[in-house]
Amino acid sequence: MQHSIETSKLFSREVDACRICQSKDLHRYLDLGETPLANSYLTEERLGDSEFKESLCIQLCRSCGLSQLTKVVQPDLMFRHYLYVSSTTSTIRDHFAQLASSAVKAAGAKAGDLALDIASNDGCLLKAFEAEGLSALGVDPAENLAAEANAAGLKTECAYWSESVAATLSENHGKAKIVTACNVFAHVDDLQDFMKAVDTILLRDGIFVIECPYVVDFVGKGEFDTAYHEHLSYIGVTPLETLMKLHGFSIFDIEYFENIHGGTIRVYCSRASLRERSPRAAEFFEREESFGIRDSTPYDHFAKSVNENRVALNRLIGELAAEGKVVWAYGASAKGNTLMNFFGIGSDKVPTAIDDNPKKCGLYTPGARMKIVGIEELKKFDVDYLLLLAWNFEAEIRRRCKAAGFKGSFIVPVPKARVVPGEDSWPSR
Ligand SMILES: [Zn+2]
Repeated sequence: MQHSIETSKLFSREVDACRICQSKDLHRYLDLGETPLANSYLTEERLGDSEFKESLCIQLCRSCGLSQLTKVVQPDLMFRHYLYVSSTTSTIRDHFAQLASSAVKAAGAKAGDLALDIASNDGCLLKAFEAEGLSALGVDPAENLAAEANAAGLKTECAYWSESVAATLSENHGKAKIVTACNVFAHVDDLQDFMKAVDTILLRDGIFVIECPYVVDFVGKGEFDTAYHEHLSYIGVTPLETLMKLHGFSIFDIEYFENIHGGTIRVYCSRASLRERSPRAAEFFEREESFGIRDSTPYDHFAKSVNENRVALNRLIGELAAEGKVVWAYGASAKGNTLMNFFGIGSDKVPTAIDDNPKKCGLYTPGARMKIVGIEELKKFDVDYLLLLAWNFEAEIRRRCKAAGFKGSFIVPVPKARVVPGEDSWPSR
């Protein structure tokens, strides 16, 4: 699709007020440029077409502390056919099993109680709730994933989460003791409707659990590449509590996972005053105050170092290309696509990307247009360097590459570009 001012208006809206507190005191701090949709992979036949692009730029609400994109792309362009599958990595499967068990304990749920998972993807968490003896129900707008989950016996309604969907499900299946929203909250434009829907389906003493990447890591660790058009909000507990209060809820506990999506918070909410806030949750609020969650300074500092890293990685890749080294990428994920597009690195320097999701193999990445292949292709070519776009799974990927016979080095691009020599390879640069 040719991108023009007209199509941009049709498919995007400008965010001029905070989606949590409605304030207009918005400070733009990170501009990643005009970027194609990070999950819009291309088939070989479509390589000649131009792609839909939209500005990828982040602003801070100085009133509640919510970081959010300046543009919202129409969701149907992003979520109706989704290639991200939760169960792809064992790390995520184990993580969801632990989530189900913790949520059951926190809620005091009994066998047969209903757990509802919003944006249930391929049903990975539903399966974990069923293993805990609960009755599980999923909601997901991706037709391909909902069909896959239902075929596997994991009850899934194909829809976007909304107040009317919640009312229908509540009539047909009863109210839920646990509602979960993993890696979806940050994707939602209308958070007020989202919360009304949770309020509609949750039992009075039920709990609502949100998991999302943590904004303090995003900024503090320079994880700019977790920004993409689907990722509308960059969440901390301070703005989240503002939203909860507006809907009669409150945060009572928080867990933290350093290695999931570069730093993830799991936030437990219940109706206000029903549960006491844990000391570890209180600490998160204090730490965000000292971080300066509502102050533009840490965000501006982060943007400056991201721009410096862009120069450094480009120089490194340019030098390797000039030396005739073969550089491939590992991880054709949304974050990799943001990184390649912002850094302006294309298939002329990095022609191929390895990915573990077989559904992506044979396709091309948006923007950079690297060909996606399986790890077995490593054996067939003399690859000198692997650019680790999925750096959040660094240890797991390095193990897999070693097992696949890879003897070259790794380039870890974030937060600062660095080379990690593999075994039997040349010394570090
Ligand atoms: Zn706000």
